[in-house]
Amino acid sequence: MAPPELQQILEAIEKPLLFASGHDYSNLKTLKGLEPYMALWLEKALILPLSQRRQDLFNRLRTQIKGFDEMGLALKKARVLEIQKIYNDLKCDDSAPLPCQPWPTQAEFHQHHKDLHTSIQFIKGVGPRLSAILKKKNILTVEDALYFLPRAYQDRRQIKTISQLTVGKMETVMGTVLRADMSYYGKRRTFELAIGDETGTLAAKWFNFNPRYMKGRFRKGMRLILSGEVRLFQFQKEIHHPELEIIEEEEQTHQEGTQTGPPAKEESIHFGRIVPVYSETEGLYQRQRLIRRIMKNVSDLFAQKAFSGIPEEVCQRQNLIPLSEAFRKAHFPDAEDNITLLNEGKSPAHRRLIFDEFFFLEIGLALRRSGAVMETGIAFPVTHLYTNQLRQLLPFALTPAQERVLSEIESDMRQPHPMNRLLQGDVGSGKTIVALIAGLMAIEGGYQMALMAPTEILAEQHFLNIRPLVEKLGLRTALLTSSLKKSQKESLGKEIRAGTIHMVIGTHALIQEGVEFHRLGLAIIDEQHKFGVLQRANLKKKGYNPDVLVMTATPIPRTLAMTLYGDLEISVIDQLPPGRGTITTRVFNEKERFRVYRILREEISKGKQAYVVYPLVEESERLDLKDATQMAKHLQRDIFPEFKVGLIHGRLKSEEKETIMADFKSQRIHILVSTIVIEVGIDVPNASVMVIEHAERFGLSQLHQLRGRVGRGKAPSQCLLIAQYPRTEEAQQRLRVMEQTTDGFQIAEEDLSIRGPGELLGTQQSGLPDFRVANFVRDVHLLGEARKEAFSTISRDPILSLPEHLFMKETLKERWKGRLELATIG
Ligand code: ADP
Ligand code: MG
Repeated sequence: MAPPELQQILEAIEKPLLFASGHDYSNLKTLKGLEPYMALWLEKALILPLSQRRQDLFNRLRTQIKGFDEMGLALKKARVLEIQKIYNDLKCDDSAPLPCQPWPTQAEFHQHHKDLHTSIQFIKGVGPRLSAILKKKNILTVEDALYFLPRAYQDRRQIKTISQLTVGKMETVMGTVLRADMSYYGKRRTFELAIGDETGTLAAKWFNFNPRYMKGRFRKGMRLILSGEVRLFQFQKEIHHPELEIIEEEEQTHQEGTQTGPPAKEESIHFGRIVPVYSETEGLYQRQRLIRRIMKNVSDLFAQKAFSGIPEEVCQRQNLIPLSEAFRKAHFPDAEDNITLLNEGKSPAHRRLIFDEFFFLEIGLALRRSGAVMETGIAFPVTHLYTNQLRQLLPFALTPAQERVLSEIESDMRQPHPMNRLLQGDVGSGKTIVALIAGLMAIEGGYQMALMAPTEILAEQHFLNIRPLVEKLGLRTALLTSSLKKSQKESLGKEIRAGTIHMVIGTHALIQEGVEFHRLGLAIIDEQHKFGVLQRANLKKKGYNPDVLVMTATPIPRTLAMTLYGDLEISVIDQLPPGRGTITTRVFNEKERFRVYRILREEISKGKQAYVVYPLVEESERLDLKDATQMAKHLQRDIFPEFKVGLIHGRLKSEEKETIMADFKSQRIHILVSTIVIEVGIDVPNASVMVIEHAERFGLSQLHQLRGRVGRGKAPSQCLLIAQYPRTEEAQQRLRVMEQTTDGFQIAEEDLSIRGPGELLGTQQSGLPDFRVANFVRDVHLLGEARKEAFSTISRDPILSLPEHLFMKETLKERWKGRLELATIG
């Protein structure tokens, strides 16, 4: 209940509102003097000691009522609707500091859910052409449309005349095209519009543009609305690269817009407010007004149905506005909203949407983790029988970082629950030996170990490194890849099932149907970023809750790692083995190729070896192979006849690859030309030069991984990047980073900021829900908050069985779309 003075004011306001809406708003025709009447009561209200929330609401009321009496009927009606909403919020109890969000009934919740999946085609204004364009953007339902947030907001609360524009400020102005043409300032080509209104003229200028498109776009006499920063040039006001909208043109193609002057309701969507600007996608940008109308329809009809079921107390604590409110405001902000925050994606509406996405991500991860903790697993009786023997065999001592990580693994393995651990370590930090020792701890207890690598060549490499050591301990290991003959696979399968093979190394062939283990105790996955969570789950299924260790050389900033692998514990090898030489990295262009060859010759004459790598460009493996093959021939015949040049690629048979690798290791091959196959895992300490062809095509972490193949011996090494022109700005930046640092962690951060985390890890392949609003880098703070709330929610209700968590559970299932094994929560 509101305090008595307020109560009186609310009642006073309610009367005319009831009248106004009477007879389906036809009373509006006779309603007079509403503005001064409301203003009077607003005065009284605003001197009361009100909560911030109510003050804001009254201020909103004031904005809505301004100019009311002079408006046309349609606009009046729209305003009254707005005012009624505000009035309802004002009546809400203030002990809830946020607008109350009515909790739906179960039937309502399901009906709303169904409604939100209405096909976008059924929305007024969406014809077949537009729905095709929207489909390309993955907008199929009205819910998708709600998530299609404006890419920017324009302040059209005040549209100025040209004479009112202030130089140096962001302004919005309306005018008519007087002239449109190209001009030259010295060498610089510009496209220029002269815009005029009754108070003066203004120039709009573009410096980067498509001449044909721009010429076709503007006609003399066309009415435009534009915004941007106002500048002064030779006493003339101008705006560079304005945000702009053609006012009339589109009206003619739109069925509603052919009347004289835009209808009153239209005005309130496109003018006199903060206006959303949607994607620049071809086919949408030119139809801003149409899209805006459609989004207004969607928002008016469907936003209020959005409800995800985040517990009320979490919303209160985190200051979240209701989801429905967030959608409404993200598309059509209220007049008093902060435009800067909106444009930065930090408004309360954005905040709510982002939190919502993160929260359900973290709830899923929390469930996964708690599930794992409660599961029973193998408590390995680690005896160190084999591991001690192995340490005797190694020509080196483990680094302190390796020792620390091993003790973390050992203590996990002794627990009667399955281990779920992520092992991070830069290229060359010595993860393989850690994996081997962990495997031996499992074997000591009478179990088998499986090691899965992303490529055949890497699996072979592991196998070749591991087999001699393991055999000296009297244990048996085998390589299982898809290139084995059927008969070989079968006999191997038998031995794995019988348990006479202790350690199985392989590719994803390991997780295929038909591979059965006798007693799989530990599953290790190398280079996790190549595999998805699902594959991890599949390998796990091969045993009875085996322990799982995943290894990755792609260092991920800790906050992000926590999230992406939120169900995993993390161990980090943050130290390279001693005695590694430095690596110098330099970029060359095609003309400098001979310098690269000179360096190669010098190094090989000193007894060193080199790699030359060709990129694998999407879907043209054949072409690359051709490039690599030709290059190997060319190098052998024309450039280095005195040395032996070898060639390795993914299409060779296993034995052939093995022979070539062995030849390279024993220095019978000096220069190894390869396709991308050597990206991971190969280890030849005597190789001191890495040449990467078409370096501009590789991603940063890929380049870093490749470079990690050298610098493994004591001698200084070199990484020579041959990059072609043209290079994109991004490519240029990647090459620069490569020259500047060899620190994998720093490179990962740079990569993250160049590409964004979605691409870096790919939510698709990592098995996480999709993100439509949230951004891991920008919103990392909210991620932390969401994680905290989600984990504490799950700790109170570990399988979401409380009735108040029912809707949350449903939303969770929807967002994760089967990517979460929800057996435990039903
Ligand atoms: P990655 O972490 O990239 O998988 P590897 O396991 O392939 O690295 O190890 C790289 C090289 O370092 C191998 O030749 C390995 O034998 C060697 N190595 C591993 N640990 C040590 C150590 N503690 N001291 C010296 N060399 C080591
Ligand atoms: Mg490795």
